[in-house]
Amino acid sequence: MITTTIAGSLPKPSWLATPEKLWAPWKLEGDALQEGQQDAALAWIKFQEDAGIDIVGDGEQFRKHFVHGFLEHIDGIDWDRMTTMGIRDDRYDAQVPTVTSAVRRTGSVHGASTRFCRQRTRHKLKMTLPGPMTICDTIADAHYGSRPAMAMAFAELLNQEALELEAIGVDVIQFDEPAFNAFMSQVGEWGVDALHRAAEGLKCKTAVHICYGYGIQENIDWKNSLGEEWRQYEEFFPALNDSRIDQVSLECANSRVPLSVLGMLKDKEVLVGAIDVACHDIETPEQVAATLRAALEFVDPERLIACTNCGMAPLPRAVAEGKLTALGAGAALLSKELG
Ligand code: ZN
Repeated sequence: MITTTIAGSLPKPSWLATPEKLWAPWKLEGDALQEGQQDAALAWIKFQEDAGIDIVGDGEQFRKHFVHGFLEHIDGIDWDRMTTMGIRDDRYDAQVPTVTSAVRRTGSVHGASTRFCRQRTRHKLKMTLPGPMTICDTIADAHYGSRPAMAMAFAELLNQEALELEAIGVDVIQFDEPAFNAFMSQVGEWGVDALHRAAEGLKCKTAVHICYGYGIQENIDWKNSLGEEWRQYEEFFPALNDSRIDQVSLECANSRVPLSVLGMLKDKEVLVGAIDVACHDIETPEQVAATLRAALEFVDPERLIACTNCGMAPLPRAVAEGKLTALGAGAALLSKELG
């Protein structure tokens, strides 16, 4: 049986936030916002269950953005001191807040929402957190003076949060590290160390999601500059395979990453992205099965988990629904074939 899961985010319903937009402002506030987020998460959990997704998530319905959703609850960050920073190695500019003193977690970030989801599904539950390197690439530093030092400080806070989520009953905690792909040489130098600090003491499954980014124009332009084959992963997969993180999530649908690089992750469970999140065409179950089948040449079936390439937050809701259904059906097709 091929296990299925999702990379993370799913679209917000149009009554909760403006659709097809990253960083979309909430349409509700106060108690109504909390209730709306819960209803949206519940709808997605039910949808995932019906689509045959084994390890479900909240679709990140409780946060506006995968990095700032965490940072908003951290002391030591000045949100009035916004700095324009070229992020992902200058791929695009973003307005980011500034770290002005030692960072500190003021309380639980995702505890209440995770408890809500845990009580409402018997399926395995996955929660995502931003990875330390990606946090450091999404915030300006006026305190630590070095990225590795700041990453370790954030990793400690992520660890506090992760241990709390594990105690609530989360089965998989995933750290999102799209920045790994922009700073390849630094992954082995300090990126994996920071991940290990974030995951220290966890007994649940741990995962890291890496990718070439959402389907926004800056990323599409960058991808077009990378040539026929994307071999960036080769530089840091040895460090990742040697790490204590259990699972690696990456995109394989319509990606120019040669599938042979999956062979470098022989000690990991591999979340094979079989759903392209950068186009609105809905895959057929046969296409999903074909992507997974191709990956099987390099990953044993018991280590392969069918997944989406990346988060689906910017997609229209109906498209994301169609893609989730295709993911479940495609994995089922392949499972049947494998017997
Ligand atoms: Zn991604």
